[in-house]
Amino acid sequence: MTAPSAAGRRRGDAAPLGNTTPYASAAGQDRFPDWEATAADGRSAARRGLATFTTRRRQAQCFDGLTTHGETRAGDGSWARLRFAVPDGCQAGSLGIEGVWRCGYWATCPECSAKIAAERAAELRDAIDVQLRHGDSVALLTLTSRHHSGMTLVDQVKAQRAAWRAIWKGRAGQDLRDEIEGYCRVWEATHGENGWHPHWHVLLFLPGAWTPEQTRALGEDIWQRYDAGLRAEGFHSLRDHGGLDIRLAGWEEIDPTALGGYLAKGVYADAPDVVDLVNNADRLALEAVAGAFKQARQNRMTGGRGRTPFVILEHLLTARMLGLDDTREATRDAALWREWERTHADMTIRQWTWSRARASRGQPSLRELVRTKAAAIGHATVVTEVERTEDEIVTDDAGSEPLMEVPEVEFHRVIKWEIEAMRHVSRDAGPLVVFAWLRQRGVAVRWCDDPSARRWAAAWDCWQHLRGSALFGT
Ligand SMILES: [Zn+2]
Repeated sequence: MTAPSAAGRRRGDAAPLGNTTPYASAAGQDRFPDWEATAADGRSAARRGLATFTTRRRQAQCFDGLTTHGETRAGDGSWARLRFAVPDGCQAGSLGIEGVWRCGYWATCPECSAKIAAERAAELRDAIDVQLRHGDSVALLTLTSRHHSGMTLVDQVKAQRAAWRAIWKGRAGQDLRDEIEGYCRVWEATHGENGWHPHWHVLLFLPGAWTPEQTRALGEDIWQRYDAGLRAEGFHSLRDHGGLDIRLAGWEEIDPTALGGYLAKGVYADAPDVVDLVNNADRLALEAVAGAFKQARQNRMTGGRGRTPFVILEHLLTARMLGLDDTREATRDAALWREWERTHADMTIRQWTWSRARASRGQPSLRELVRTKAAAIGHATVVTEVERTEDEIVTDDAGSEPLMEVPEVEFHRVIKWEIEAMRHVSRDAGPLVVFAWLRQRGVAVRWCDDPSARRWAAAWDCWQHLRGSALFGT
């Protein structure tokens, strides 16, 4: 038996591309949790799937092109920049595309909604924290209405809006409002056996220390005026069957720090147990065909209160993937999703509403209130003075820097189709391997002309030099 040549052995010993770089991150260090990365993939795949049948044009165009200052690029031969967020002391991190076109739809986009909800929830979590640390109180009030499967979503939303206005109408309404420092109202809708179930979760910011009894009395007053408003519209609410639900943070099994996240739960592929299912094709198939399993799944995800629209979308996409889209369930889900899209196309529904200033009563806006209290207790709050728009949130590049660029045409040829794989490469192995990965696909990638990009370019040159040296046997 002949020994392999030295050169051959060295070639044989050489590890795959990803492992030859001296810059790869240490295993498991500063990596994204696996489920979070998989959830991001799930959202990306759902956005892609939805684009094939959505009735909203803007939704279909999400992540489909590049913009410069909001103007769609006309294929003018410009370059698309790849931005990376690599934590200090790490060689790998997350990847984004600068100026990529985003729909910014909180209600229908699996990707945009997650980014929006993350920021809004972080702000709300901080506002609650500030209020409690300042020695004041927060109560969570949920306002619903009685519904059945024949009711459209639009009609219910209209009635609930009128009822909300009725709460604060007139002298008595204003007096009631005076008891509250401010509120953040979050709109949510689920769908279950009794049809659409739109409802509001209202965080009430209350001055000083409140007891559960006082809070309950306030809730009664609000609920009675709300119910009267609903009845004027031909609807009503059931007081002891979910109609009146008010709980005081810190007293009644409410974890104040979890509240923000709880209110942002209507996000596509948000929790680890969802991801387990996304990963498991057998269970996915089961879910699409077995009603009982589906029911159990729904209950676990929504506390038995029906499916969120993104769960409906997930079921619909699964059925389409398995070629089961002409089943009764899938046909029904498709109709529900269309109604959901149509409702948002026809009427502007705000998901999060922070109370505004009441000049006549000398009351600041909730944002102002929180910022003033935060300053008083020396807390650096994340609550911004002016609420950022959804478009601002989804196009925000802060925290990342441009490292490399490719001709715009490559965005359309390679990047938009392979973004999930590129994100994985970036997270696991970093910008150098993303650069190598693009070159392997024949993409004319080049390093940006920025100081930090130049450091990566130097590292790349060094790596190329090593690969070409005797050390690697070539
Ligand atoms: Zn979008």
